[in-house]
Amino acid sequence: MAEKLETGRIVRSLSGFYDVVLPDGTLTCKARGILRKQGLSPLTGDMAVVTRQGEKGMVEQILPRKNSFVRPAVANVDALVIFAANVNPVTEPFLIDRVTAIAGNKGVESILCVNKTDLDRAEELVRVYTHAGFRVISTSAETGAGLEELRQAIQGKLTAFTGNSGVGKSSILNRLCPNLALPTGEVSEKLGRGRHTTRHVELFPLDAETFVMDTPGFSSFDTDQMDIILKENLQYAFPDFGPYLGKCQFHDCSHRKEPDCAIREAAEAGDIERTRYDSYLKLYEKAAQYKEWEHK
Ligand code: GDP
Ligand code: ZN
Repeated sequence: MAEKLETGRIVRSLSGFYDVVLPDGTLTCKARGILRKQGLSPLTGDMAVVTRQGEKGMVEQILPRKNSFVRPAVANVDALVIFAANVNPVTEPFLIDRVTAIAGNKGVESILCVNKTDLDRAEELVRVYTHAGFRVISTSAETGAGLEELRQAIQGKLTAFTGNSGVGKSSILNRLCPNLALPTGEVSEKLGRGRHTTRHVELFPLDAETFVMDTPGFSSFDTDQMDIILKENLQYAFPDFGPYLGKCQFHDCSHRKEPDCAIREAAEAGDIERTRYDSYLKLYEKAAQYKEWEHK
């Protein structure tokens, strides 16, 4: 008799064991050796085809990934939710821009969640990122404002929550899913949640189709050697540059100092936000350095 094949999402991976969510619960699985030989080690976020072997399961196959990230190691991310605040702590636009670029480079949508709006409405952040074409949601974990809008925005998706420490990611996650009871504030600092290296990647299921990954600190969604953006590709990771691409005098314009550069002119005119353009220049320098180093 052929073994029954079932398909589910890997929500956790730890020391060669994978927790796969199936309609009737979570099954802890090992992976067939052939997968590793094929260079296909299962990743958290993967859709896995599994068979049951008594109490445990076996990952037989990994369905094609729509994307994958190295750090954190996760596959099939539908959207990044970038948390920001204008008070305690203030989020630097550059941090937001760097993360949106990493996501954009992989074709992943970025949603900006401006939190702590009970303390400060962060009007400038809302204005800049709305103008840049991002979906912006204003929330307060304190009053519950905006939570329904956020819930709808992430419904049915695998999203990664990211943002600088203290902006309220855990507080919002607890609001969205009260039985998580994640530690927040000083308690979470004491547990060392800020040091992502000590934590494994885990997806929290909000319902059968909605998964959230909490990634403490902006550093975790960082430019890893594998997630690096080639300098030539950086322009495409800025969706607000889209309308101006191809309109520069030089077809290989880097949008820095070249004459008749449509991007720079748009930034000077305020049609592209100045902080976004400045972030582009900064990220370009980083990307250029990486390439030189890589070619040595
Ligand atoms: P994380 O590091 O991003 O997970 O942030 P936490 O969820 O741990 O929140 C850090 C601190 O900010 C905690 O003391 C929370 O109670 C507080 N906090 C979180 N969200 C809000 C909010 O919307 N309004 C206010 N006033 N405080 C908040
Ligand atoms: Zn240009």
